[in-house]
Amino acid sequence: MNLPYRHIALIGIGLIASSISHAARRAGFDGRITGAARSAETRDAALRLGLCDQVFASNAEAVEGADLVILCVPVGVMGAVAAEIAPHLAEGATVSDVGSVKAAVIEAVAPELPEHVDFIPAHPIAGTEYSGPEAGFASLFDNRWCLFTPTEGTDPGKLDDLIAFWRALGAKTDVMDPAHHDLVLAVTSHAPHLIAYTMVGVADDLRRVTENEVINYSAAGFRDFTRIAASDPTMWRDVFLSNKAATLEILGRFTEELFALQRAIRRGDGDHLHAYFTRTRAIRRGIIDAGQDTNAPDFGRTPKPGE
Ligand code: NAP
Repeated sequence: MNLPYRHIALIGIGLIASSISHAARRAGFDGRITGAARSAETRDAALRLGLCDQVFASNAEAVEGADLVILCVPVGVMGAVAAEIAPHLAEGATVSDVGSVKAAVIEAVAPELPEHVDFIPAHPIAGTEYSGPEAGFASLFDNRWCLFTPTEGTDPGKLDDLIAFWRALGAKTDVMDPAHHDLVLAVTSHAPHLIAYTMVGVADDLRRVTENEVINYSAAGFRDFTRIAASDPTMWRDVFLSNKAATLEILGRFTEELFALQRAIRRGDGDHLHAYFTRTRAIRRGIIDAGQDTNAPDFGRTPKPGE
């Protein structure tokens, strides 16, 4: 496949960057991939796994000569990393990122970059609860959305190139306003993560009373919360601090709905509960119909009879 770049620099080599490397190679990318990571352990892993042709301890060195630079670090350090690489960026390079929040990243990164590069923020909505260079795999982005939040001055040709790149990695693509992106993600990802963190925290407090019962008898609902609540603490701290307004807005609505359900339970209002759960079941069906999750029982973890 003819990808529009010859040299990709990945700044930060964790789950997302390693998956980009695997997926780019799977798509036939035969150009150069350089990378930068803080720890020697991550840099060694990146070379051992063949994620990069060359790895640097300095972000600045990794971007030298690259025509596509992708910032794959936690959202809270994007601005500092942009300032570090700015003087070393090649003329005409595209600088992008994969941050889970867009408005705050644009605010932090855009002012740091020189005129002679194009900054095109992006967010692949794909991930797992694992992190680090060993966690990546080539199919992570397959059939998942990658959202782009270009700014007014974005060159349409450069945007088309980046979209073609992500499509080659397996993603479906869409373009969105940054503030709208942050509100959508607050509903679909950020608030649910906070709720999972809270639920697991509550159960952990309870465990002190009930010994190991919470772990031993963990049914599907709680078990699924623990998977989400195992996500990287640094990444998620930064997501909440950077998407404060939208997350608080959605949590406010969540609290109101929770109180309404609480009242329905107290009053024995079965009709309210049934109508509510019927509506939420339809949303789940919509997600499956859109190909964004499996329809296998228990997410495919329990074999069907006869399998
Ligand atoms: P990750 O696996 O934890 O990897 C993060 C990488 O960034 C590591 O290579 C780490 O280096 C480096 N790093 C961390 N702090 C740094 C700092 N202060 N300065 C320079 N480098 C630093 O993270 P990830 O899951 O790939 O996430 C990366 C980005 O993708 C985040 O912005 C996140 O919001 C976004 N994202 C994540 C997901 C997801 O589900 N995980 C999905 C979509 C988008 P060391 O290993 O040397 O510490």
